[in-house]
Amino acid sequence: MASEKTDAITIRIVDFSESSCIATLFTRDFGKIGAMVKGARRPKSSFESAIDLLTISRIVFIHKSSDSLDLLTEAKLQRRFRAATRSLPHLYAGYYIAELLDTLTQTGDPHPDLFELARETLIQLDELQDPLSLVIRFELNLLRMIGQKPSFEKCTLCGGEISQQPRVSFGQLSGGVLCGKCRVGQSRVISMSWGVLEAMNLFSVCDTALPEVDPLVLGELRGVLNNYMANMMGRRPRMQKLLGMLGRPATIRDDALSLLRKTETRVSLMKDTTTTDDTDKDVLNDSTFSRNN
Ligand SMILES: [Zn+2]
Repeated sequence: MASEKTDAITIRIVDFSESSCIATLFTRDFGKIGAMVKGARRPKSSFESAIDLLTISRIVFIHKSSDSLDLLTEAKLQRRFRAATRSLPHLYAGYYIAELLDTLTQTGDPHPDLFELARETLIQLDELQDPLSLVIRFELNLLRMIGQKPSFEKCTLCGGEISQQPRVSFGQLSGGVLCGKCRVGQSRVISMSWGVLEAMNLFSVCDTALPEVDPLVLGELRGVLNNYMANMMGRRPRMQKLLGMLGRPATIRDDALSLLRKTETRVSLMKDTTTTDDTDKDVLNDSTFSRNN
C-alpha cells in the first residue's frame, strides 16, 4: 500500500468512535477521498486543527484497496477557514461549497483545476468578499469542470442561435437556453431576463476578480441556479435555504439568520469543535455552532 502526499480541503467529518473520525477530503491530486483519522478526537491529537471543516492542509495518507477507507497518517495545517468566526453568510457559503464538492464529484476522480478554484474561493470568502458572487462563480465553473455546464449561447435542443430579447427560456431538464420553437411542450422551463444570461457568461470565467453585477440580476440568477443545482443533485442542497438569504437586504437577512439559528439545520454539517482556539469559542458560542441553545 503506497503512501501518498497531496493538498486537501476537508469537506465532511463524521465521528466514528470516541477517538477517531472519518474525513471526506477533496484533494488536489486524487480528487475526493474518504479517510479514517485515528486519534483525531483526542485532546492532544497530532492532527490538531488540520482536519477541521474547510481547512486546507498538506496530508499524507495510505491508499487502501477500492472498497476500504484510506488511512490518514499526517496532516499539516496550511490555512484555516477564518470566515467561520466573522460572518455567517460567508460561513454558509463555505459549507455550501463543501456540500457541492462532496455531492457532485466522484471518489478518486482528480480535478486539480477544481481544487484550485475551491481553494481560491475559500480564501476570498475569508477576505469577506461578496459571498453571493463567489458562490455563483464557483457553481458555474464547477459545472463546467465536471462537464455539466449549462448552455448559454445556443438552443440546447436544436443548436439555433438565441437572439437578444428581454426574456429567454431556460430548460432545467435540457440544461440550457431554448429557442421559441423548442420551448413548446417542454416541462420545467423558466423564463429569465437577458441580463441573467449575460451574468452567467461573466461568472463562467474562472477569473480571480469578480464581475460587478446588479444585485437584482444576481438575485434572479441565484434563483435560476437554485433550481438548476437541485435538478442536478436530485434534491435541494441542504445549505440552499440559507444561501437564498445572501442576496437580500441585510435587515431581512439578519432576521432570517437569527430565526435559523434556532433550527437544527446547523448541526448536520458540523463536528465537535473541540480543537478550536479561544477566539473561535467566543464567537461560536453565540452563533450557529452552539448545540445547546
Ligand atoms: Zn431550438
